[in-house]
Amino acid sequence: MRPEILFPLFAEPTKLEGVGPKTAPLYEKLGVSRVVDALFLAPSGVIDRRLRETVQGAVEGGVITVRVTIGRHNHPGRRGAPYRITVNDGTLEFMLVFFHAHPEYLTRTLPEGEERIVSGKIEFYDGIAQMPHPDMIVDPAEGDPPDGFEPVYPATAGLNQKAIAKAVRSAVAMAPALPEWQDAAWLSKREWPAWTDAIQALHAPESAQDIEADAPARQRLAYDELLSHQLALALVRARRRRAKGRITKGDGGLRRRVEAALPFDLTGAQKRAMAEIDANMAENQRMLRLLQGDVGAGKTLVAFFAMLNAVEAGGQAALMAPTEILARQHLAGLESLCEVAGIRMTLLTGRNKGAARDEILSGISDGSVSIVVGTHALFQSDVVFDDLRLAVVDEQHRFGVNQRNELAEKGAGADILVMSATPIPRTLALASYGDMDISVLDEKPPGRKPIETRMVSLARYDQVVESLRAAIAKGARAYWICPLVEESDTIDLAAAEDRARALRRAFGDDVVALTHGKLKPAEKDAAMAAFKAGDCQVLVATTVVEVGVDVPEATIMVIEHAERFGLAQLHQLRGRVGRGSGESSCVLLYQGPLGENASARLAVLRETEDGFRIAEEDLKLRGAGDLLGIKQAGVPQMRLADLAVHQGLLEVARDDARLIVSQDAELKTPRGEALRVLLYLMGRDDSIRYLGAA
Ligand code: ADP
Ligand code: MG
Repeated sequence: MRPEILFPLFAEPTKLEGVGPKTAPLYEKLGVSRVVDALFLAPSGVIDRRLRETVQGAVEGGVITVRVTIGRHNHPGRRGAPYRITVNDGTLEFMLVFFHAHPEYLTRTLPEGEERIVSGKIEFYDGIAQMPHPDMIVDPAEGDPPDGFEPVYPATAGLNQKAIAKAVRSAVAMAPALPEWQDAAWLSKREWPAWTDAIQALHAPESAQDIEADAPARQRLAYDELLSHQLALALVRARRRRAKGRITKGDGGLRRRVEAALPFDLTGAQKRAMAEIDANMAENQRMLRLLQGDVGAGKTLVAFFAMLNAVEAGGQAALMAPTEILARQHLAGLESLCEVAGIRMTLLTGRNKGAARDEILSGISDGSVSIVVGTHALFQSDVVFDDLRLAVVDEQHRFGVNQRNELAEKGAGADILVMSATPIPRTLALASYGDMDISVLDEKPPGRKPIETRMVSLARYDQVVESLRAAIAKGARAYWICPLVEESDTIDLAAAEDRARALRRAFGDDVVALTHGKLKPAEKDAAMAAFKAGDCQVLVATTVVEVGVDVPEATIMVIEHAERFGLAQLHQLRGRVGRGSGESSCVLLYQGPLGENASARLAVLRETEDGFRIAEEDLKLRGAGDLLGIKQAGVPQMRLADLAVHQGLLEVARDDARLIVSQDAELKTPRGEALRVLLYLMGRDDSIRYLGAA
């Protein structure tokens, strides 16, 4: 139960000053659905409203606050022209400008000959300074002049800054003093304020630096956020570790046979990952390990060895892929290795029906099938294993945590290995997977040829088509990825269809296949199969070219409107080529002129093929919130913590959280009690369930 002290903070936003039933939905858009959310609405800027001597020397667009003597009112000569008032700050004469003005109101508030303090944006018009619609007009005889700094909040249509600031101020006033949940020594070492003081400081900045990510108040609040999240993950992890697992220790017989049959040596990274997995499986605890590696790093083989470990120990293993195509590909890739090992592997997908399906199911339940590769179909309740010891989940971000667990529940205490091809920076991996152990394949199999990456302006489309024609004549196969248009599948689709038509005109109908998200699965498979078999040489696709699709003969990747894709996604797409023995190339077709950020993104891609480096650069360029791959990978959205800046804090929070859980698993000490309040404050009520005994 949420502690009573927090009740006021969890009231509806209509409890905020100036927020009513009509405006509440607008606040919802800003992420404010409770009073507490307003506290965590981070200012995106500050306005300096300190009183100045003069407007002279002001920068265009800057906000200025000055004391002026009101001069002549110039009524607009014609309809639609602005109403101007000449004012003088003692040094410079300038104009206050009003459109659609109410003259009576203006003569009342700005009477000629009197003094006023005005504050607003300065613009220059014909070399003359003017302040259109001042934000504030204060009679110095009556009110206090605005002074100091004002927070600026991210806005949404229909809400002005004044209203948001007022609502936030009222939330701050409602913030109770809370028991301190941070370690006292750590707080004083960092010289961070108490929570309530930090909240107040966040919303009452005294300089532009005060809202920067490294300001003490901001850091403290960021750390609260990171700690609550890491604590939630640590509690989940601790509960899992309390639950009994299976001791799975194969004799290595099958693995030795398979390794001897491989035409290559395992990489050091693969061996390391295998050893980490073996050690987990041998423990009497459930394994939950993430195997992270760039496309082509050799994850599947590592997973296969883990599965063989389970089989050697007398059990079974399952490998679940997000799509039928990927499941089939895994099957094809592992078939010959299973033969070498002398074990049975089978495929189970939603397309298996009737008697054929029954036969597969009986092989799984009587144990004659050792490894099952499949899709979501593996979850179905009539899929019963004889002895499932290991569940491997490929592209884990495509499945929810529940689905992952559901599969594992098909074997008592089964170990879980999840794989991800989204290279994400270490910090972000910590942020999102704090509940798992992580193995990273940071070394690619030797002998991969670099992919030649070029940037070509869309204006040179014809040339690209001509070089493609020459390559096709020599038997090359190419992907052509079509632009991603935000929020519109239909437009995406139309663009891809147009492109396919144009390329068919250029190369001939049977050379070009088209695939996209709106096709039926069978149609998608047919296009992919034709491309794989070489029946067509160009595959035009929206981004449905699945991560992991393997056509080693494909050597050309054209990405149209590359500037619209995120780095992570470009990297994944490029990874579709360079998988075989041929020289590969990637053409980034862009629409100029490129913005600074887009140029930087594309330049990174040209420089390196290292997915982890690309991910780090992406993080720097875009910030954690915007990373597409990152979002897919399930990294939580933070409100005050900026993962690009607060990496150091994140690592401390992770260690702090694990230490807390190891010393006070039920959060019963005074600090533990305070940490419960933090968890509720941060909306992590869920994790409270994981406290204490399993
Ligand atoms: P991932 O699943 O990480 O994208 P895969 O497991 O599909 O990568 O491996 C890509 C290709 O590399 C496969 O054809 C695989 O047989 C091959 N491969 C795996 N490990 C090695 C290695 N150590 N040396 C050479 N090739 C390897
Ligand atoms: Mg185990």
